[in-house]
Amino acid sequence: MNKVGEFYTPGKIIFGPGGLSQVGTEAKRLGNKVLVVLGRSAMRKSGILDLLTHLLKENQIEYTIYENIPSDPTVETVDKGTSLARKENCNLVIALGGGSVLDTGKAISAMVTNEGSVADYQEIKGKGKKFQHKTIPFIAIPTTSGSGSEATINAVITNTELGLKKSIRNPWLLPEVALVDPKLTLSLPPHITAICGGDALTQCIEAYLGKKSQVITDALALHAIELIGRSLVRAVKEGNNLEARKDMAMAALLSGLCLSNSGLGAAHALSHPLGVHYKIPHGLSCALLLPYVMEFNLPVATKKIAKIAQALGENISSLSETEAAQRAVEKIKEIFSQAEIKENLSEWGIKEKDFSQIIKGAKGGSLNNNPRKTSEADLIELLYKATGLH
Ligand SMILES: [Zn+2]
Repeated sequence: MNKVGEFYTPGKIIFGPGGLSQVGTEAKRLGNKVLVVLGRSAMRKSGILDLLTHLLKENQIEYTIYENIPSDPTVETVDKGTSLARKENCNLVIALGGGSVLDTGKAISAMVTNEGSVADYQEIKGKGKKFQHKTIPFIAIPTTSGSGSEATINAVITNTELGLKKSIRNPWLLPEVALVDPKLTLSLPPHITAICGGDALTQCIEAYLGKKSQVITDALALHAIELIGRSLVRAVKEGNNLEARKDMAMAALLSGLCLSNSGLGAAHALSHPLGVHYKIPHGLSCALLLPYVMEFNLPVATKKIAKIAQALGENISSLSETEAAQRAVEKIKEIFSQAEIKENLSEWGIKEKDFSQIIKGAKGGSLNNNPRKTSEADLIELLYKATGLH
C-alpha cells in the first residue's frame, strides 16, 4: 500500500537517570517566568518539587505553582490554569507529573496564546476550532511511565458539560523539551506502575496495528513492546529496580511517539467513554480491553501480531502465523496477570443497558484507525467479552 506518513517529535528529548538536573538550564533557554503544573501532593512529599524549584531559582527563573490537577483534567482545570498563567505573565509551562498533569500543562501552554475556552478546540464532531497562534514553550517531565504525553501532539480533556473525553490536537502542542528521568518513577506504587505500563503497551500495539502505521513508528513500537515484555512485571514487583524503570520510561516515551504519529485503535476508543461514565482509570481499561481487541483484529493483522509475540520474547519458530499471533495475545494476558492486573471491567458497574451509550462515546479517530472495521455488533461483542457479562 502506498501511504504517506508524517512524523513529529518534541523539540528535544532528554532521557536518563538524573536528567532532572538539566531543567534549570533548559528553562533558562526558553523563558523567565514559569507556570509549574503539578498533581495532588506526591511531588511535594517526595522532595522532587523542592529540587525543581531550587534548580529554577539557581537560574534566576521566577515561578508560580498550579497544583491539585485531578486525574482526569476537565475544561475548567485548563481554563483556570490558563487565567493564572496569563495573570502572572508566564512565558513557559513546566508540568511535572503523570499523563493528566502533562496534558493539563500542554493545554495551558496552547490556551495562553489562543482565545476562548479549551472546550472550543476539542475534537468534537462539527466543532473544534483551529489554534491560531503558536503555544508558549512547554517542558514535560513525566513521573509515571504510561501516557507518553511527553511526546504527543494532543492532550485529552474531559468536557463534563457534554459528558465526553476528547483531545485537542496540533503539532504546536508538542513539548519543546521532553525531560524523562526514570529516577522520578522509582516511588510509583505497584498497581499504578502496572496500569500505566498497560496503557503504554496498548498505545504501542494499537499504533503498530493501526491503519496509519508507518515504518518509523513500527520500529519504535516493536522495541517498546520488547522493553515492556521484559520489564513491566519487574518494575511492578521491584519498584526500586532502576533498570526496569528505565525500560518502562523509555517504552512510555516511545509509545507517545507511536500514538501521536500513527494513531490508536478500538481499545482506546472504548476506554474514553468508560473513563467518563465509570471513572475507570485509563490504563486499566486499556489493559483489560487490549487482548480482546487483538483477538478481534487477528484475522486482518495476523503477521504483525505474530511479530508482537516475537518482540515479547516468545519462540515462534515452530508455530504457524496464526498460532504465533494467538501466542502474543496469551502472552499479554500472562504479563498483565503477573503484574496483578486482575480486575474485570464489570466490577466497575458497567451494565448491558449502558453498552449503546459507551459505543456512542467511542466513535472517532481512534476507532477509525483500528485495522479491522468495527460494526455496532462487533463493539457490543467486545464489551461482552471484556466485562464477562455474557
Ligand atoms: Zn492511552
